Amino acid sequence: MPLATNKSSTIVSRFFCGLCACFFIGSMPPTLAQYQNQYQNQNQNQTQSQQYYVDGQPISQERYQALQMLNQSIPLLQANRNQEAIDLLLQAEKMAPQMAEIHNNLGLALAKLGRNGEALQELEAAKQLKPELAATWLTLGGLYQSQGQVNEAIATYSEFLQRFPGHKDSSKIASLIAGLKKELANGTIPRYIAPDATSKDNYLAELAGHLTRWPESKLPIKVYIASGKGVPGYLPQYTQILEESFATWQQGAQDKLSFISVKDPSQADLVCSWTNDSNSFTNRAEAGETVVFTNSQGIVKGTIKILTVAQMAELPLTNNRLRQICLHEIGHALGFGGHTRDPQDMMFFSTRVTDQDRSLSPRDAASIKLLYSSAIGMH
Ligand SMILES: [Zn+2]
Repeated sequence: MPLATNKSSTIVSRFFCGLCACFFIGSMPPTLAQYQNQYQNQNQNQTQSQQYYVDGQPISQERYQALQMLNQSIPLLQANRNQEAIDLLLQAEKMAPQMAEIHNNLGLALAKLGRNGEALQELEAAKQLKPELAATWLTLGGLYQSQGQVNEAIATYSEFLQRFPGHKDSSKIASLIAGLKKELANGTIPRYIAPDATSKDNYLAELAGHLTRWPESKLPIKVYIASGKGVPGYLPQYTQILEESFATWQQGAQDKLSFISVKDPSQADLVCSWTNDSNSFTNRAEAGETVVFTNSQGIVKGTIKILTVAQMAELPLTNNRLRQICLHEIGHALGFGGHTRDPQDMMFFSTRVTDQDRSLSPRDAASIKLLYSSAIGMH
């Protein structure tokens, strides 16, 4: 039915950030418990020299020590003490170069420090040595995803599902694959990168068809941030990080847009809240969810929900990570309805494995400024 004939009516349409496959990455070293069950030393006989056994088979003391180091690396990885984990794992690797788990964890630690080339080598080594190690496939898929290699990520995750159909993360990975494919189909992840795309100073052309914006009459945007009190995982600094993230976009736009904080959600145009339940999201592989409502003038209101808990223990929700999620979701709420394939951008489609304090890329800043320049007509 043609509804657009009455120009004064407000036709509110719903529009999702397709999927933020963003901020999920498959990377999990085998658990400490698995190793502890599998590898235990037994003092065979007090009168003989100590002998170490794995699954009933004797192993050398050197190999046993390598296993101990491997176990010690896991809490270091979970605490983001990545360089310490690398130092330890390199020692372990010398003692037991054939142990795939060492290469896997080394790959993860290197990836978390942004040393992607070396990480890839270690993960390939782990895959060759022990293709039945599920963690390697997830870490490798995650590494591809975090570098913008969507097709390689989908292929690796798909092979993981084929090889390990009963794995505890298989439904999550299936959601992730479906989400990535949907984004590719919808064009909210560009299907390809133009040869010079990353050298372009903004990404409006890449996101063509997925752009909207708040009309001038709606500025400054009235923002309400709900209390996070009582939400499991919420920390008091999260609200401050979210507020700073709004300010960062405003600076990036060189004040072509602005925000005003309101205390009453019914007075707000953009309502932000916290949740510890990713099952409430359209796609549970997300760490945040943004919905905006538009009419013929542009955005009329929106909501942002931010997850207060880590999606996996290996990538703890640090202040750095939370800031990236906030900046990314605000970007959607400001009118970027898609993602980029340049890992430098905050609107990149995937999380980074690295835990660094990051802000907007020059392209993010140039894009938001251009989007809110009156010269560009969106409608
Ligand atoms: Zn997103």
